[in-house]
Amino acid sequence: MKMILFGAPGSGKGTQAKELSECYNINKISLGDILRKEVKKSSSLGNTVKGYMERGVLVPDDVVAKVIEENIGGESFILDGYPRNLDQAVYLDNILSKKNTALDIALYLDVDSQTIIKRLQMRRVCPKCGANYHLINMPPRKEGVCDLCGAELVQRKDDNPEVIKERINVFFKESKPLLGFYRDKNILISIDARNDKDKVFSEIEKVIQDGKYLKQ
Ligand code: AMP
Repeated sequence: MKMILFGAPGSGKGTQAKELSECYNINKISLGDILRKEVKKSSSLGNTVKGYMERGVLVPDDVVAKVIEENIGGESFILDGYPRNLDQAVYLDNILSKKNTALDIALYLDVDSQTIIKRLQMRRVCPKCGANYHLINMPPRKEGVCDLCGAELVQRKDDNPEVIKERINVFFKESKPLLGFYRDKNILISIDARNDKDKVFSEIEKVIQDGKYLKQ
């Protein structure tokens, strides 16, 4: 199964990608996580992308294209955070067609702006294993500590009100056109992602089971 997960910041892409990858034992490629690790290491890639990420705008296409090419093989994957504009979508199709394959599902997690803002301001993340928490809806068992690996939770630098506003603008301007692109290809599935994470997950599971995507 080859799936992309897309949606506004705070739509739950990271959370769902992680659960799906664990449940179905499928490779998860999360572009934001990969880039954040590079920033932390202060690698040359990290230094290139840092400023864009802090401002909440997209990193240039040629930079992220290389990362994607290095991480995508011919086997199953769940891709979180790529593509984020039409050029990237065409680029991804080209990479896959060179490998004689194609996407099975483009899963859109649909949420409204109010929900996004509330979620992102309350979000805390684990810098070590990537787990996501919400201070009210999905708090860690021990305050400030990751349930899974015990690391100290942090707030992402780009989860502040100014940058959140910019990331939402970028989403509507650059990423929303992906809806039409994948609808035309007949692989678009839209899920109401305002619900809690378990309900969203079970809806995604239903889609996967009904579509028999797991054989591919
Ligand atoms: P995310 O963790 O998916 O919210 O991504 C965090 C940030 O990483 C974004 O605000 C962008 O600056 C950058 N980024 C992630 N994915 C992409 C992409 N496909 N194209 C360009 N920039 C990206």
